Amino acid sequence: MRPRDSQRSKVYKAEKVLWDSCKSFLTVGDMQQYINACLSTVLVRQKYTNSYTIIVTDGRGRRHACCSGSNTFRKLKMPVWSRKEPILLHELAHALTDKKYSVHGAEFCNNYLFLVHVFMGLNCYNKLISSFKENSIKFSIQRPKETCKSDDSTYRRDPYP
Ligand SMILES: [Zn+2]
Repeated sequence: MRPRDSQRSKVYKAEKVLWDSCKSFLTVGDMQQYINACLSTVLVRQKYTNSYTIIVTDGRGRRHACCSGSNTFRKLKMPVWSRKEPILLHELAHALTDKKYSVHGAEFCNNYLFLVHVFMGLNCYNKLISSFKENSIKFSIQRPKETCKSDDSTYRRDPYP
């Protein structure tokens, strides 16, 4: 059985630090394009060797964004209010986290931090880490070597055209 999802509300609270002045998406197509670009990035392909097909849908009628799926595909359901870059990366982190782990556990948080680092840059990554610490959220990320020396501008990979 999957471990209890004990960090859920803390993660929801902590991640709001990224919501100010972040990128928003207008359409499902924009989000799908962003996800496709994320998945084709070398750093992501190296880290996640399971290849899922990830489909973004409009999440109509849902209060929260969510990720569902099977062993071969994942579906990200994104209601209009939730179409922000960090929320999309949050759902992508669910899609890339093995289902044997707790839903918002340390492994999920590590994946989320990794994606924020790669696609939103070092400042956002540091903000999220501080907020995780303030909220006593468990994570245990190992920063990729390649990024340790880089500053925000040289490291940032922007998959959004
Ligand atoms: Zn979640």
